[in-house]
This record gives sequence, structure tokens and C-alpha cells, in this order.
Amino acid sequence: KNPNGRYTVTMIAGDGIGPEISTSVEKIFAAAQVPIDWEPVDVSPIFQNGKTAIPEQAVTSVKKNTVALKGPLATQIGKGHVSMNLTLRRTFNLFANLRPCKSIQGFKTAYDNVDTVLIRENTEGEYSGIEHIVVDGVVQSIKLITRDASERVLRFAFQYAQDIGRKKVTAVHKATIMKMSDGLFLKVAKEVAQDYPDIEFDAELLDNTCLRMVTDPTPYNDRVMVMPNLYGGKSLQSSRLNRGLGLTPSGNIGVDAAIFEAVHGSAPDIAGKGLANPTALLLSSVMMLRYMDLGSFADKIENAAFDTLKEGKHITGDLGGTASTTEYTDAIVSRLD
Ligand code: NAD
Repeated sequence: KNPNGRYTVTMIAGDGIGPEISTSVEKIFAAAQVPIDWEPVDVSPIFQNGKTAIPEQAVTSVKKNTVALKGPLATQIGKGHVSMNLTLRRTFNLFANLRPCKSIQGFKTAYDNVDTVLIRENTEGEYSGIEHIVVDGVVQSIKLITRDASERVLRFAFQYAQDIGRKKVTAVHKATIMKMSDGLFLKVAKEVAQDYPDIEFDAELLDNTCLRMVTDPTPYNDRVMVMPNLYGGKSLQSSRLNRGLGLTPSGNIGVDAAIFEAVHGSAPDIAGKGLANPTALLLSSVMMLRYMDLGSFADKIENAAFDTLKEGKHITGDLGGTASTTEYTDAIVSRLD
């Protein structure tokens, strides 16, 4: 918070549809008179000492403001760049990826009344990026699980469950096969659970969770799920089932900063055409406002967006409507004026 009572938040507009959807969020924030000033930064990757790095100005901005909103970043495949998303997670120690998934009225999906919360370990597991060639034709990729990173994300999950009033935490794992790595995650989960006697703890095999999620996800509404990195990607299944990609928000919570972003990518197929649905980034910004204790602004914006979606007159093409990004944004803005 600045001395003038306002906040400065780093804005990473991102690639593809990023600039269109971030402009939309900025317009809606202005209409809702949110006391936030945006600090736009460019995170186009640079090479530093032979490694992919984030431009210094962007690092400084996120470190200073400790909160950022981020549009999607396109990952260049096979150009020697490490994914910028991974680089951001590592640079700012963003250890927990928080993915809520709630049904939205007016957007009919396979199941109504879905309200799941999934937390994904964000820094290691199969995404640790440790790979090497053993001999020609044989490649080894290392799944790294540490006690420290597991404990950090598990504590966050239990604390988060307590904060939002959920009485149960389920650790999702594959310790039947990965006895040592997922075994360690599970062991730490059981230890952390002892510090939260009011919260019920159980563990579930990934296969069962996936099967039950696609059969009917609503029994998971009562808890927080927490899991190693790769399995958290499965949450995409739940978002696809219950929401379009254009509607699903997320938050990366870390030691040094928190970065909020949509789950979807840069959508190069529709970029620059005014067709993108900004809701996922907008709902990520709503999560951000709650994280910053600006809940009243979050409620105001969320209600305006949900009412616009429910009415269905000004919705984008991905939801079966004909509105452009701007028309949908203006419909939300008109509810805030
Ligand atoms: P994508 O999510 O960009 O697109 C998948 C499909 O969903 C496309 O048809 C797209 O038009 C549609 N879509 C996605 N978001 C939408 C929105 N807001 N409104 C309307 N339609 C939307 O996935 P992809 O095509 O596999 O990836 C494209 C690029 O994005 C890749 O470079 C990938 O690495 C990157 N990516 C980035 C992130 C991130 O920054 N967090 C996440 C996923 C993918």
C-alpha cells in the first residue's frame, strides 16, 4: 500500500490475446474505482549467462510490488528457451498454484453446483526440468520431491482450508507406484495434518480422483485437494468439464510474491481479433483482490461479471455468444457505473 492509500500492482499483459484481455481488466477496475495503479512490465525472455532470465525491470517491479497480474505467455518450443512461466515460478518461489473451479450460472456445463478447490505444488516433481541423455536413445528425466517443498505446499493447503472454512484436505498421489517420491509427499501430508486437528485428512489415488471427478465432481466441494505438480495439471480436466478455458482463474502464491493468471494460454488462433473472453483473467484479478484484502471490490466486480454472463446477451463466442471482447467488457462496466 502506498502512502496515498492506493496500491501498485505489476501488470504482465502477456502474448497473443494477453493485451486484449488485460486491457479489459484495466477498464473494469477503473469503472469499479479499485484503488490500484498498474505498473506494466515486459517479460520477453533474455539470455543471461547462458540461461533464460526475466528482464531486470520486470523482476524489480514484482519484487517491489509483491503482487502481479499476468496474461498468458507463449512458450517457444525447441528454441533453447526455458518456459517463461516456469522461470517466473522459480524466480519468485511461487510454490503453490491455487485453482478454484466454480459453476457459473448462464454457462451450462456437464455438472451444476461445482465448487472445487485444487492446490498444486508448483516448483518441482516432473517439472523440475532435470533431464539428461544417458546414452544415445536413452533419456532420463528426474522427478524431484523434497520434504521442504512438500511441507510448504501442504501447510498452505491446510491453512487455506481453515481460512475458507473447509473441513477436509485430500492429498492426491500415486504412491502405489512412486513409492519413495509420492511416498514422501504423503508422509509429510500426514505429519502436517497432525497440526490441524480440526481438519479431516485423507489421501486418494490419482486414478480414483480423476475417475470420480469426471463422473461427478460435486462430492469434492467440501474440501481442498492438494497434490504434486504434474497431477495438478489434471485440474484442467475439471476446468474443461465445468467451465470453459476462458473462465478459469488461478493464483500462484509464493514466498517473495504472488502472481495471478488465467489457466488458459495465449490463444494464437484468435489473437488480435477481438474475440477473446477476458473472464478468466478478470476472475484471477478478483482472486488477487481477495488476497490483497480488497474483498468488497472483488465482490462488486465478480457480481457484475456473473450477472452479465447469466443474462447471456453480451457473451463471447467461446460461450456461444456473438459479443466481442470490448462489447462484453462494456456490458460489465455498465453494471458498475
Ligand atoms: P490455449 O489455451 O492458448 O488455447 C486453446 C484453445 O482455447 C484455443 O482454441 C483458444 O482459442 C481457446 N481459448 C483459450 N483461451 C481463451 C479465451 N480467453 N477466450 C476464448 N478462447 C480461448 O492453449 P494452446 O493453444 O495449447 O497454447 C497456446 C500458447 O499458450 C502456447 O505457446 C502455450 O505454451 C501457451 N500457454 C501459456 C500458458 C500460461 O501462460 N499460463 C498456459 C497454457 C499455454
